[in-house]
Amino acid sequence: MKTNILGYPRIGASRELKRAEEAYWAGKVGEVNLLATAKELRARNWKEMAAAGVDLVPCNDFSLYDHVLDMIMTLGAIPERYAGLEANSLQQYFAMARGIQDGSHDIIAMEMTKWFDTNYHYIVPELHHGMRFSLFADKVLGEVREAKAIGVGPKPVLTGPVSFLLLGKAREEGFDRLRLLESLLPVYAELLALLKEEGVEWVQMDEPFLSMDLDEGARLAFAEAYAALSGVARPKMLLTTYFGELRDNLRLAAGLPAEALHVDMVRGGDELERLLGILPHGKALSLGVVDGRSVWRNNFDRSLGYISKARMSLGDENVFVGASSSFLHVPYDLEAERGCSSLPEEVFGWLAFAKQKTEEVVALREIAEGRKLETLAQNREARARRRQSALVNNDEVRRRTAAVGAADARRRSAYAVRAQRQAEKLGLPLYPTTTIGSFPQTKEVRGWRLRNRRGELSDADYKALLEAETARCIRRQEEMGLDVLVHGEFERNDMVEYFGERLDGFAFTSNGWVQSYGARCVKPPIIYGDVSRPRPMTVEWARYSQSLTSKPVKGMLTGPVTIVEWSFVRDDQPRSATALQVALAIRDEVSDLEAAGIGIIQIDEPAIREGLPLRRSDWQEYLDWAVTSFKVSSCGVGDETQIHTHMCYSEFGDIIESIAEMDADVITIECSRSQMELLDVFGKFSYPNAIGPGVYDIHSPRIPSESEIAELLRKASAHIPKERLWVNPDCGLKTREWPEVEASLRTMVNVARAMRQEA
Ligand code: GLN
Ligand code: ZN
Repeated sequence: MKTNILGYPRIGASRELKRAEEAYWAGKVGEVNLLATAKELRARNWKEMAAAGVDLVPCNDFSLYDHVLDMIMTLGAIPERYAGLEANSLQQYFAMARGIQDGSHDIIAMEMTKWFDTNYHYIVPELHHGMRFSLFADKVLGEVREAKAIGVGPKPVLTGPVSFLLLGKAREEGFDRLRLLESLLPVYAELLALLKEEGVEWVQMDEPFLSMDLDEGARLAFAEAYAALSGVARPKMLLTTYFGELRDNLRLAAGLPAEALHVDMVRGGDELERLLGILPHGKALSLGVVDGRSVWRNNFDRSLGYISKARMSLGDENVFVGASSSFLHVPYDLEAERGCSSLPEEVFGWLAFAKQKTEEVVALREIAEGRKLETLAQNREARARRRQSALVNNDEVRRRTAAVGAADARRRSAYAVRAQRQAEKLGLPLYPTTTIGSFPQTKEVRGWRLRNRRGELSDADYKALLEAETARCIRRQEEMGLDVLVHGEFERNDMVEYFGERLDGFAFTSNGWVQSYGARCVKPPIIYGDVSRPRPMTVEWARYSQSLTSKPVKGMLTGPVTIVEWSFVRDDQPRSATALQVALAIRDEVSDLEAAGIGIIQIDEPAIREGLPLRRSDWQEYLDWAVTSFKVSSCGVGDETQIHTHMCYSEFGDIIESIAEMDADVITIECSRSQMELLDVFGKFSYPNAIGPGVYDIHSPRIPSESEIAELLRKASAHIPKERLWVNPDCGLKTREWPEVEASLRTMVNVARAMRQEA
């Protein structure tokens, strides 16, 4: 049996790549310096995997920015607007990734979007009719040679031709991207031939779309592409799928001509039997048993069960033991967390990051072969300790979640009744103006937090500074003439971390970074146990800010779906169960805010759209629990308390009914960039409650003009009755500067006032 790793974190144990890149972009170090760091990181990864006992060590999984962008370069699919830059230079590469604006160039970046259901973002290939491809093999070949030079015969990773096209976006509407296959395949053939000449034994061809919904055209494309590539001189091919079951594509994937097939056993374990039944004779099966998406130690017994079934049916030489996906999506090394104060020692013992997961892959093979049985015993003990731990199990939480009923997820009265009571209580004007929550997190504010964390600024002094900043923020909002104020969120570092730090059941790493895009990394919290709220989390800030003004101040919370979506969650219960626990904790906070006299409470759910499962047939189940979680968090209040929610990133069209079911009194939503297209959706569906369509784009420092805002609002009122229309920017303002914010919001308020006059 061989051991197989699909990909490794690229950013380095201490984010060395990020630092080298930022220095390079800032012009502080040259290309040589950046490339040397990259080379060192690759070598470290290879040596580490080889030393651990990995047979199929990946190369070309490394990237200076993104592996799809690398593939765009390898295939010569560079958009014309970058043609004036030196071909295949680092300048051209980063111009595609980040745009370029210097004395001689002004070119925008390529589009970036989420990589399947992960928090990683890839650069979207730009495809168009008649486009030509040409091979640039330097990066792949370079990495092969580099690895060989240090004694590792690597397995290059390539994005396969069909997935490459499906990841892309056609420039012309209605153009079928897969029609480019014919001109693309010769480039792949050429590349494979070169790899063969280079002495490469295995190549990993990533085709994650085999785990997605495919139409007939895409299936034919798979058959055609792999038939064409089977005839050429090439290394052995490991056709690789991940992120889910194969389902209706199982027969197709098993039958494509390749020497081996890799499947995700973490999400697709139930399919093993069927696969073994139809896998062509002599083909190897790579079992992705160690989870590339979670941070937990593997369940060895479960994995060994799959391995032994596969061995019996295929024989040892045709079974590979591997990871379910690339380890790009988990932090690098758990050892860096030893002694970390925000990670209980007990929880430390239940975790595995990329390095530990690699060791697990190797251990599984050894155990399967009858060696290292003490490792199996250790694994069982660690898992048993976790199952029984008092840190995980909270009976009170269990009792509460079990008792949640339909009434907990329903407001007392229908929207019309609530709207009436809220209008009486709040007395807001027509077209009420508000913001999404955060105000500029200036250098000073971030500086205070940093100094407080380092112990250089006492808690009391830190709090006093934040209070002063909050008071200034309230006064400024009053001066700008806003109707519903916010406290500004100066005390928050991050909208999930802030709550996670105040809830039981959450742990935080000190160095558990995961790449989000390019040099940007995130450090997701780890939800390890039943979640509960030991004490109020935001009430003091809400009460303080409300005491400063006679205008209503909105309470500001993050919703349960977003908290779960942006954390590493437990693997011992469904996501829905974790979300319900979080929902109850937020519900308690909502009640406390209400009791403290806060009449408007916003529960942000920006991540609700991105939590959608990859397969459409799984959507409804997700939407059901996501909506229920939100409602459990928001429905504990009286009719006169107004619940807001906020969502960003458009394309809500296909989940609009679920958004309506959430039954928030007001939804503020990003849509200034899609020119109110979204409103069309809300209008057609005749969304029943109030809406605040974002009237200007906060992602840009540009100050909108009165006429722009007025036009957007007039368009909006064509779709939404004016009694249900709010006026607000499209997202939080924390990344902006005060002068822009004040100018933009004043303009916004002026427009709303003028519209009131007209009405
Ligand atoms: N209330 C948050 C803020 O204003 C919402 C952030 C978000 O939408 N991602 O920053
Ligand atoms: Zn937002």
